[in-house]
Amino acid sequence: MKGIPLNKLVHFLDAELCLSEFREDESANGLQVEGRTTVRKAGLAVDACEYVFRRAAEKEIDFLLVHHGLIWGGLKALRGVMRKRIKSLFDSEISLYACHLPLDRHPKYGNNARLLQLLSIKKMGEFGEYHGKKIGCWGRTAKELSLDEFTARIDNALQTRSSVVSFGKKVRTVGVVSGGGGFAINEAEKYGIDTFLTGEPSHSAYTLAEEMKVNLVFSGHYATETLGVKAVGEALEKRFGLAVEFIDHPTGL
Ligand SMILES: [Zn+2]
Repeated sequence: MKGIPLNKLVHFLDAELCLSEFREDESANGLQVEGRTTVRKAGLAVDACEYVFRRAAEKEIDFLLVHHGLIWGGLKALRGVMRKRIKSLFDSEISLYACHLPLDRHPKYGNNARLLQLLSIKKMGEFGEYHGKKIGCWGRTAKELSLDEFTARIDNALQTRSSVVSFGKKVRTVGVVSGGGGFAINEAEKYGIDTFLTGEPSHSAYTLAEEMKVNLVFSGHYATETLGVKAVGEALEKRFGLAVEFIDHPTGL
């Protein structure tokens, strides 16, 4: 395969993922580390880390797209773990492209939009304001489900094991924020949400959920954030005929 120029791929992704609409993110979204000028194979992963970089090099990946990149709040000293990570990318000439909040909220490729689709929840609107933008979604199931039925659906679809706090309601109107979305519990009442799904358990969400009678489902930060990068990978395959591979490195958290 001939491959495509790195610049072309980066321009396509910057526009397609609407990076310019979301500048408030801590993550330096976009191309963080520049590698080979031609991309023949793209890798997808949730987290930028040594394990993923090693696997990417073994698989002869030129371009790695991740949800959690390496640069947060500006560039820090390149020492210790950071030095090793950057060296590993430079040694194998792999480009690193990060897309954090824009990938949570994206209507087509977003973690949250894809979670709704996967769980057969009809999207009704946006939900979960963070840095002035709603990054999650809320929607309705086709019929009322027990919390057990709903949790089994999630666990099967995401190959995860959710932890659940029931406040007695059946599941019909669901708010979803992937990853560490506990803050969004504040909006549950406004949208009539009976069940709130996020990745990481949130202690502070408990008493609010208790008083609002909203069920809490914590399905894992990692497990709720694999869908976005995979969706972008499908688009790269289709659009550029690129070979694409997902590198799974579950944290179980
Ligand atoms: Zn995350």
